[in-house]
Amino acid sequence: MKKRELGINTICTHTGELKDTSFNGAVSPLHMSTSYAFEDVDKKRYPRYFNTPNQEALSIKIAALEHAETAMIFGSGMAAVSTGILAFLSSGDHVVLQNMLYGGTYNLVTTQFDKMGVSYSFTDGLSIVDFEDKIRENTKIIYIETPSNPLLTITDLDGISKLAKKYGLISIIDNTFASPVNQNPIDFGIDVVIHSATKYMGGHSDICAGAIATSKALMEPIFQLAINLGGSLSDYTVWLLERSIKTMGIRVKTQNENAMCLATYLENHSLVKKVYYPGLTSHEDHELAKKQMSGFGGMMSFELEETLDAAAFRKALNFIKSSMSLAGVESTVLSPAMTSHALMGAEERAKQGIADGLIRFSLGIEDKEDLIADMEQAFEKISKNEMAISTP
Ligand SMILES: *Cc1c(COP(=O)(O)O)cnc(C)c1O
Repeated sequence: MKKRELGINTICTHTGELKDTSFNGAVSPLHMSTSYAFEDVDKKRYPRYFNTPNQEALSIKIAALEHAETAMIFGSGMAAVSTGILAFLSSGDHVVLQNMLYGGTYNLVTTQFDKMGVSYSFTDGLSIVDFEDKIRENTKIIYIETPSNPLLTITDLDGISKLAKKYGLISIIDNTFASPVNQNPIDFGIDVVIHSATKYMGGHSDICAGAIATSKALMEPIFQLAINLGGSLSDYTVWLLERSIKTMGIRVKTQNENAMCLATYLENHSLVKKVYYPGLTSHEDHELAKKQMSGFGGMMSFELEETLDAAAFRKALNFIKSSMSLAGVESTVLSPAMTSHALMGAEERAKQGIADGLIRFSLGIEDKEDLIADMEQAFEKISKNEMAISTP
């Protein structure tokens, strides 16, 4: 009989946990040592070698969540992104990246690659032809992010993995927005999966961390660079992250439901011009999203009707906070033009279709009725103000 695979919530709760052999406690003990024996041991342990007991335990859980052979935990999402990309590059190499990218990754590429002698091309769109057009003889990596930030565009995982194999390239995905609950790119043949664990893995807006999941062979160069760059995470935070991931499955499923409900509410609202959410049938990549995602995620964006002031709307919300970052149990909104995509500049934003008034919405786990009520009272407030302004 084929061994039954564990369900996601069981993996979140148990996989990789450490036994408390001293006291038989129910949860993984925390080992804060930075100094371990070097004699008569199978392994020389040190935090910056990513092999303390807690680091190893959490890596096993993350590998299982992403259906990967192995995983590593980093001090931030950007430590994972930078190490994961640079591990496969030398001076003279070229990288193809999708044009819709996390602001920090865009900044890494556009400010650091030149001086390392690495060239890069951003695609003009997200079809496989757009990627293929940019491939050169010295291309080493295809880098994607799906769903993307902030417009939730979808890139074809199966198509990208086939393209990478055709040209002998390494395919890397930033899977942060989907989380491992909704999307497992390795099942589609993507080589390297990166997460900002600050987001859905942490889930409570109180941990900064990153992760990479891949094959043992591809992890080798990543590990070799990582120990030199030194982007390891404190064991205390590793332990907190293990605790946080225990509830990731149930958190993200609630966030998926809330997002679907609020996206439908906003799409039908007379004061809303457009909603970007891959779960809506009106989303241009809805069919592709259905093919490669098991849930549509807790992130969306929307634009208000042009006469309305998006900043005033955000400020009129009560418990839905205007705040940076995403994926916490609390719902938050932000303006990409003022935050995540500020460094990109107005021209590039306009090219990508990121309107100045665009509102990005990260759904928490609050009750749907309360989220709708908060939105509704904010719409009422700003439409009253608008009437006050337009009445002479
Ligand atoms: C936040 C984020 C990152 C960077 O993660 P940090 O933990 O802030 O370093 C990378 N990619 C995406 C999609 C993100 O949302």
